[in-house]
Amino acid sequence: MSGNLYERFLAVFSERGDAPAIELADGTTWSYAQLTDQVGRLARRLVEAGVEPGDRVAIQVDKSPQALFTYLACFQAGAVYLPLNTAYTGPEVSYFLSDAQPRCFVCDPRRADELAPIAGEAGVSAVLNMDPTGAGTLTDGLDAVTPMREVVERDPDDLAAICYTSGTTGRSKGAMLSHRNLESNARTLHSYWGFQDGDVLLHALPLFHVHGLFVASNTALLNGSKMLFLPKFDADQVTRLLPKASVMMGVPTFYVRLLERDDFTKDLVAKMRLFVSGSAPLQPETWRQFKERTGFEILERYGMTEAGMITSNPLNGERRPGTVGFPLPNVQVRVAKEDGTVLGTEEIGILEIKGPNLFQGYWNKPEKTAEEFRPDGFFITGDNAKIDDRGYVHIVGRAKDLIISGGYNVYPKEIELTLDAMNGVKESAVFGVPHPDFGEAVTAMVVAEAGKEDTLSEKGLIDACRTQIAGYKTPKRIFFADTLPRNTMGKVQKAQLRSEYESTFQ
Ligand code: ATP
Ligand code: MG
Repeated sequence: MSGNLYERFLAVFSERGDAPAIELADGTTWSYAQLTDQVGRLARRLVEAGVEPGDRVAIQVDKSPQALFTYLACFQAGAVYLPLNTAYTGPEVSYFLSDAQPRCFVCDPRRADELAPIAGEAGVSAVLNMDPTGAGTLTDGLDAVTPMREVVERDPDDLAAICYTSGTTGRSKGAMLSHRNLESNARTLHSYWGFQDGDVLLHALPLFHVHGLFVASNTALLNGSKMLFLPKFDADQVTRLLPKASVMMGVPTFYVRLLERDDFTKDLVAKMRLFVSGSAPLQPETWRQFKERTGFEILERYGMTEAGMITSNPLNGERRPGTVGFPLPNVQVRVAKEDGTVLGTEEIGILEIKGPNLFQGYWNKPEKTAEEFRPDGFFITGDNAKIDDRGYVHIVGRAKDLIISGGYNVYPKEIELTLDAMNGVKESAVFGVPHPDFGEAVTAMVVAEAGKEDTLSEKGLIDACRTQIAGYKTPKRIFFADTLPRNTMGKVQKAQLRSEYESTFQ
């Protein structure tokens, strides 16, 4: 047996046979046998398009069962899967294609006129397309194609995927992930989260990001589970499908949206076993409200494109809101200063990690890769964190978001928790902007709870902060908005806030 992850999946798929793999909201279903067949045909199609083992296949299409089949077809053909966010514009796609040099690019037919020339300029030899229903030149006449039966042999250290990071702190970097990386993470999550026969996953995450692809899909595939597949998060649809599911994975926004609905009740989740949250911090308040409404404690975990999942709250055992739990089995974590000095419990520093899930480096960026690794192989995540005396990891924000005001370190999370706990505040984002005296000034963006807008004032909140946190941590200005700027994964775009409010004190 080679190191190709698809071989592991196939062993499960062939056992499942006619059991359902994917079910859409309208009831359309693909069994594991049908999925295997479709993947084999797509693998053949890719090979016919000139894709050879090790070639990158870049894909920017809406989520559909066929998009998932294409992902697996890349593995079967020994290619490197490279998903792109559907929101990327022409110039962004141009950057990714020139950087990654894929052999093949699959785009949305509605954007083919715009993107095919861009792909051509980047040197891509095969441009195919596929629409949200799975139709397009990639799948045309697929019934007449002979399915590929063999799985191209791969070494466990060969690349399975290149995933670009979300670009929250700068230009997206291509994280190179090997078959071993993906397999170890999938196996770990499968057992850590207690996947079992009969589990049904409600899948409403995008397929272009680690969360929907490797965390959600890979664990479900390894379990041979049915996935209830939604093209995107739609609170109506999720509410309708939840009674049929036992596991859901989501970004915090999913849970906030569900709680906003009166018809989201305990009855809907009678069959549920597990709710998982990640990709962005889950507010402890959301966690508590969810528990009150449903009886379920959302399991928060932490990860990143470069390593898949790193820490998780326990399946059995205390799940602590505001923390991301313990390091996963075989994953080592430590908190260190910038100079590499390892810190003790309760001390805030940068989280460093090591394990079989850790990526092979940034594509085309050997210097950047070297900068982010310690000599003993630990990867510097760029997230500020502490480990408490019970071993729970707390993420306190990104190192790049740390505010240094008057020479003091201010961790935005602490101020956000203070603001969020105030009456009438729904959520907040705290960031630093240039200040002539202090270097940086603590600044906040606050979203009021519905109907409470009039009860909040800048002065009122600042005065209230003063009674709870030190003067240097208290925001010097507070702005109000209807929503925080977030990307599709629910990540607050602090760089955008910093640049928007850059001249506040100048
Ligand atoms: P870039 O690296 O390009 O700036 P990014 O870090 O947002 O973008 P991802 O790899 O998608 O790209 O996101 C990983 C980051 O998401 C982590 O480093 C961490 O900051 C954040 N994150 C993930 N899960 C959690 C969580 N449960 N709580 C807090 N932050 C989280
Ligand atoms: Mg990152």
